[in-house]
Amino acid sequence: MRPHNPATWKPMSAKLIDGKLISAAVRKQVTEETSAFTAETGVTPHLAAVLVGDDPASQVYVRNKERACRKCGLKSTLYRLSDKTTQQQLMDLVAELNADESVHGILVQLPLPDHLDSTPVLDSIRPDKDVDGFHPENVGLMLQGRPRFLPCTPHGVMKMLAHENIDTTGKHAVVIGRSDIVGKPMAGLLVQKGSDATVTICHSRTTDIAAVIRQADIVVAAVGIPEFVTGDMIKPDAVVIDVGINRVNDRLVGDVEFSAAAEKASAITPVPGGVGPMTIAMLLGNTLKAAKQSV
Ligand code: NAD
Repeated sequence: MRPHNPATWKPMSAKLIDGKLISAAVRKQVTEETSAFTAETGVTPHLAAVLVGDDPASQVYVRNKERACRKCGLKSTLYRLSDKTTQQQLMDLVAELNADESVHGILVQLPLPDHLDSTPVLDSIRPDKDVDGFHPENVGLMLQGRPRFLPCTPHGVMKMLAHENIDTTGKHAVVIGRSDIVGKPMAGLLVQKGSDATVTICHSRTTDIAAVIRQADIVVAAVGIPEFVTGDMIKPDAVVIDVGINRVNDRLVGDVEFSAAAEKASAITPVPGGVGPMTIAMLLGNTLKAAKQSV
């Protein structure tokens, strides 16, 4: 944490972007639409979640997703597989869920245990049931601006920006991280027509990353390193979106040094209570969409 100098100290000036509040509004809408859809068609949107092994963080994520489904009137079924599961057994389960017409969305919780290769597993999910939006066909459609499912975390970030009336047009957005799950699709959404940001992607091989971040009107941090983005990297009045979730001494910490960044930014997301709840809400929306597309 940056030490506070009493002579220069000023209270947090950034507006807090409240992911709990915004996600509650999304979930309310999903609940209402699900209720109307089920009344009309007799179909209950159904998410099948697959959890392999007993990674504690993954167990929490899957439990939260299941609970959120139930609260919004969606059905969810959890398939728990042991950490001894073979690649073939996992692929067989996905094939079974692909063929099951009562299942509308399939989610394989990542990371998988080290002996399993996630790429062929994710590739084998039927694209019309790929509610995470990770299948290459869905990534391609998203990049071409005609999405079937938007990936949940980047979609959640876009929803937050829209909710806060933050215009991304012509803004310089710096995305830190180039993962297939967050960084790359985040950049892809920000650059789409309609969002119209000028996007820079930083990663582990970027030189003088601080200088790049200092140019950002919008910073999206998805690095996985606690407080990687320090307050001095934030341009005055920038918008700061912290995707990171890091466990430090039993506390959840983001990728941004929150209090120092909040003194410089115009708006900032907290961790927890920022992007995390949005990710789950967008997953529910995708599952409802998959069910609607199936009838
Ligand atoms: P990842 O490990 O797959 O990717 C991290 C990225 O950060 C990589 O592309 C890498 O190039 C970059 N990076 C690593 N070290 C760097 C450095 N020193 N300088 C610059 N870039 C560096 O992680 P991910 O799946 O993209 O997740 C990133 C973070 O977001 C994690 O903390 C994860 O827990 C969190 N996350 C949160 C949500 C949510 O719902 N809030 C969802 C997914 C991931």
